[in-house]
Amino acid sequence: MQNQKKTEKCICSGCGQVVKGEGLPIKDFLEVRKTWGFFSEMDGETHEFYLCEECYKKLRQQFVVPVKVMDTNELL
Ligand SMILES: [Zn+2]
Repeated sequence: MQNQKKTEKCICSGCGQVVKGEGLPIKDFLEVRKTWGFFSEMDGETHEFYLCEECYKKLRQQFVVPVKVMDTNELL
């Protein structure tokens, strides 16, 4: 039995694979956390989800306006 409190696991909402957890190779993933405000029907709710790189690419393809991509190589 593993203690789930020990390490926070992040699971991709798109495919269900664990993107962050103990003993896993480090992969980059999308992390979204949004607290909806007064002008939303979801006022007061905080939504959180993760997407692996593959699922993020699929999501991105559905966008009408492309994602803004900036070169951050300089940031280190
Ligand atoms: Zn995924």
